[in-house]
Amino acid sequence: MTSIAAEPWFQAPQLRRIFDLLNADGGEVRIVGGAIRNSLMGLPAGDVDLATTWHPEDVIQRARGAGIKSVPTGIDHGTVTLVIEGMPYEVTTLRRDVATDGRRAEVAFGADWKADAQRRDFTINALYGNAEGEVLDHVGGLDDIATRTVRFIGSAAERVAEDYLRILRFFRFFAHYGSGRPDAEGLKACAQARTKLATLSAERVWTETKKLLSAVDPGRALLWMRQAGVLGEVLPETEKWGIDAIPALISAEKSFSWHPDHLLRLAAMVPPDVDRLEAMAKRLRLSKAESAYLDRFAKAPAIAPALADAALDRQLYRHGSEGIIVRLKLALAAARRKAETDPAMLAESASFQRLLARADKWQRPVFPLSGADVLEAGIPAGPRVGEVLAELENLWIERNFSVERAKLVARLETLARPG
Ligand code: ATP
Ligand code: MG
Repeated sequence: MTSIAAEPWFQAPQLRRIFDLLNADGGEVRIVGGAIRNSLMGLPAGDVDLATTWHPEDVIQRARGAGIKSVPTGIDHGTVTLVIEGMPYEVTTLRRDVATDGRRAEVAFGADWKADAQRRDFTINALYGNAEGEVLDHVGGLDDIATRTVRFIGSAAERVAEDYLRILRFFRFFAHYGSGRPDAEGLKACAQARTKLATLSAERVWTETKKLLSAVDPGRALLWMRQAGVLGEVLPETEKWGIDAIPALISAEKSFSWHPDHLLRLAAMVPPDVDRLEAMAKRLRLSKAESAYLDRFAKAPAIAPALADAALDRQLYRHGSEGIIVRLKLALAAARRKAETDPAMLAESASFQRLLARADKWQRPVFPLSGADVLEAGIPAGPRVGEVLAELENLWIERNFSVERAKLVARLETLARPG
């Protein structure tokens, strides 16, 4: 019998309290989903989710009786979050899907573990753990854990038709947990239903895409997505430029210990085109911060490897460092890749590395004059004030930010003098 009893998260006293609370009076609770899957794969467990035969109202009632805080986080589909000593646990009543329109399911609560397993998406996500830590498998999930196979439960085509988001979840879980080639039946079902992705809400699509792009190495999953025609449905912007830059980026991330960044991966796959990226951000409903990231990337100048430090500083001042850092990381990754077969690229790669280090530690210098100085020098309020200020700022930038305030004031006074 496979067991997760030795896992530290399984031994948490908070989880014990949930078992004591709900494994009583004829009811039952089991752990399900990601925590079991990850533990069996030797990976850190994320959130610990639970499934129970108790009705959601009963879960709330029993929690109240035991002095445990409960929050009805998804009461419509039977989810109550129990918070014990600051640790949240999602407890969902066993369900089976009774109707579906491909976007949301109508559910019935029940007490049938097998039916609850069967309405889940993939076999590796439908393993349960009981109070003793024994793993219970109704769908062949343990075999698929062993071979790292992401497999739909039952007929792939039917499961995809119930919820088209599962197309993206197939590639997301493959990116994180799959090995070798994706399951052929699943891949075919996803390819055939790909145009239905357009019927999903942008939020759901972006949430899954983001998780996929956050995998340690999403490269293979992206390749299969392109192969299946799914990538073009979600990110048509990648069609021309493609995902060919991804392997180089992942390799650079590993070498330089860059934290996996879903937006940097996205930037590597799309053209730096302000309008197209703005439209993409709107379509996928990216957050303000995410849209701004892509906008800075698109607006940043391409940096030549031979660029002098002083010239880089000027670019940094004019465009800000964030977009330029993205450009430099991508340029460095591409140069390293080329250097594998072309030693002449080694120097280029080294140059990008040096420029990136400089951009990383760059701090914006403060222009020592303001509009008030211009007015004080006798230039009357009006458009000329801004023009004069810009002229002096340009002078200061061109001299590498080294002109002192006194010199700038003197220069300002000459400009203000009539005639
Ligand atoms: P993660 O580590 O990303 O949280 P997870 O497996 O917990 O992985 P969730 O998206 O949190 O994934 O979903 C929890 C569980 O609910 C899944 O393991 C799966 O059993 C089920 N599930 C979630 N979304 C769907 C869906 N669209 N169709 C069928 N089952 C789903
Ligand atoms: Mg989860």
